[in-house]
Amino acid sequence: MDGAQSFTQRVAAELAPHTPLLACCRRSLVEGLALVTTTPGAIATTRPVAVRAAMQALHAERIAAHVSRVGAARRVQYVLVGVETEVIETRSARVCCRRSRLRGAFLGAGRLVRPDGEPYLEIGCADETGATRLVDDFAVLEVTARTRRRRGRWVVTVRSGLAVGAALSSIGAQAGRLSFEAGRVIREVRSGVNRRLNAETANLRRTVAAGVRQLESIAVLEADMARWQALPPALREAAALRARHPDDDLAQLAERAGCSRPAMAGRLHRLVAAAGEAGDRVRARR
Ligand SMILES: [Zn+2]
Repeated sequence: MDGAQSFTQRVAAELAPHTPLLACCRRSLVEGLALVTTTPGAIATTRPVAVRAAMQALHAERIAAHVSRVGAARRVQYVLVGVETEVIETRSARVCCRRSRLRGAFLGAGRLVRPDGEPYLEIGCADETGATRLVDDFAVLEVTARTRRRRGRWVVTVRSGLAVGAALSSIGAQAGRLSFEAGRVIREVRSGVNRRLNAETANLRRTVAAGVRQLESIAVLEADMARWQALPPALREAAALRARHPDDDLAQLAERAGCSRPAMAGRLHRLVAAAGEAGDRVRARR
């Protein structure tokens, strides 16, 4: 993710220029923005891109709204002036309008959190009624969303990567969804690689542990001269090779001995078993 532009900003930038084609949807877009406005009776946002989109939708409806900048430098609000809230309260149940309303809401107060981790999408709402309506809109579009109360504010949340992807599509952020899904794929591939690396590390650890056990067994057998001499020559040869080449893998040892890999594995296995018996005898004598 490039630092200059957050994922949220990119999605907003993708959504903002598209003024809805249908009149019903234009008002619903502004309605969505109103649902996330915390100032009572106003339509306002801290995001210029959102207020511009709403203003364009109103202009297409021949409503002469304009934008007024209010507040101090760090808490600037962009307020839509010249539009009665009743005009944009469509409460439309059409699917096209639901999408549009969610777009307006996301533009005004939506956030995509941690698009590179387990992501979620959230929209801060003005009140419980607004949050419930947005959840309802999402539900009709087959996106599971929930209302939550956080630090006195009502928030609509969409959790899980799958649902966030569906939510982005449903509000028309196709490019956003694509790059979001690409991120998910990269994440999954990366975790697959990690799993593989872990498996390989485990194999390596097992190999090293086996080598150590073999070297210990050889030391035990060599310490007992009679026992060592009683071993079949092939086992003694395998022991000598292992002691001289502690880092060799099975294939390399087998090649040095001029035998097959399974044969070498069998010899090393018998060496360890023989040392075990020798060790048992030593312990039994004590
Ligand atoms: Zn519509």
